[in-house]
Amino acid sequence: MNTSKERRKKLEIFENKRKSSLSYSKIFSSKVSGPLVVVVGALHGDEVDGFEAMIEINSLLEDGTLSLLCGTLVLVVGNPFAYLKGKRYLKHDMNRSFLKEQETQCLEVSRTKEISHFLQTLSEKFTTEKKFFVDLHSTSKGAELLVYRSDNEVLRTFLEKISTLPLHFTYKEGHIEGVLIDEAHKQGFQSFVVECGLSGKNSSVALAKAHLSQLLFLTGMITQKDLLLLYSPSKNNKEKSQQRRYETISPICVRKGFRFADENVQTETFYPKGTVYAFDNIVGELRAEEDLFIFMPSKNVRPDDKDAGFLCRRL
Ligand SMILES: [Zn+2]
Repeated sequence: MNTSKERRKKLEIFENKRKSSLSYSKIFSSKVSGPLVVVVGALHGDEVDGFEAMIEINSLLEDGTLSLLCGTLVLVVGNPFAYLKGKRYLKHDMNRSFLKEQETQCLEVSRTKEISHFLQTLSEKFTTEKKFFVDLHSTSKGAELLVYRSDNEVLRTFLEKISTLPLHFTYKEGHIEGVLIDEAHKQGFQSFVVECGLSGKNSSVALAKAHLSQLLFLTGMITQKDLLLLYSPSKNNKEKSQQRRYETISPICVRKGFRFADENVQTETFYPKGTVYAFDNIVGELRAEEDLFIFMPSKNVRPDDKDAGFLCRRL
């Protein structure tokens, strides 16, 4: 993990707004119109890999090593305040805070409103049919995966072209309240999350870059030569294992006294129908109503978290 001085320096790269109305973001446009791609990194401040990938792409575009054939690329630092402190979030998990009725006044809630407004403005300004939104996260237990809505077959087919990740976590509408990719979806973007692997690892940054460069290449925004600047197929093209796709059954509510039955629970832990997967003070034993798998966004459940993870079925 970077020191706070290093983090401040890296954040400064995005402080100087470039043609963008949103703080901590930059816009790069080709003279030729084309697709719109919005990339967010560090929406969880301690998940730095996507942000590191953005820094590299930014410097290649700034010094002219990389150029866009067409279209517009927007780079956004999701939660600069938590990033500075090296924390997931300060008071509010920003990836659960994109809600219509948010009364609370704080830096993070204000930023969700600014980002929503910014996406709306972009969506109205760019009339292209090809609008993509990528939110780059890291994992706390190492499961690299893609996240998107379960009802979006068009996106699924596209993601299979840009990604070799075998693990797909898909969610039903309303199951992850206030999540940024859902907000982007409502604003007309094809939106998805890449969970890039353990935070701070070179392989996670490489995975973020691989997804971004493949996306830019397949939308015709960069040449094959430029694709290879960012992407080394030998490193990233691990043997393609069989795809495992899951769909949410429901979120796991964090009620008083909540704890998982198995302290080593992790994403894809299986519970057969009838077995106890967690406890809390209200219901007592929480039992699987069908064969299910647990998916977890973070290792440590905090009492103020909106959910402790998700119950999923395999598709
Ligand atoms: Zn995250």
